[in-house]
Amino acid sequence: MADNIFLKIINKEIPAEIIYEDDITIAFNDISPKAPTHILVVPKKEIKKLSETSKQDQEILGHLLLVVKKITDKYQIKDFRVIVNNGAGAGQTVFHLHLHILAGRDFGWPPG
Ligand code: 5GP
Repeated sequence: MADNIFLKIINKEIPAEIIYEDDITIAFNDISPKAPTHILVVPKKEIKKLSETSKQDQEILGHLLLVVKKITDKYQIKDFRVIVNNGAGAGQTVFHLHLHILAGRDFGWPPG
């Protein structure tokens, strides 16, 4: 059994509303959305957080952003925010790297 919730989703041990999937990535709706559109883009490789990546993850990291583009193109989402929370102090609660795509409402700047 996988030991983090996103690995369980990747391994189809628990359900999620999957938006997109390929060999490197899976994207699904956030279970507790913070905006009308709230999608998580997750690498299938187990990477705990952005600060633990290295040069060898370059392809995965680039791919994640291209998947953001693919999803936002597909759903014609023109204005959106992409967020990575890195570490508990920054709001990370699931320690498996993920990008949040948030859209469908106005966002303040700077973020809270
Ligand atoms: P973080 O706070 O780590 O940046 O973001 C983790 C996100 O994962 C949160 O927005 C939270 O709502 C979402 N999340 C946590 N558990 C689940 C789950 O079981 N399924 C889905 N779809 N999202 C989850």
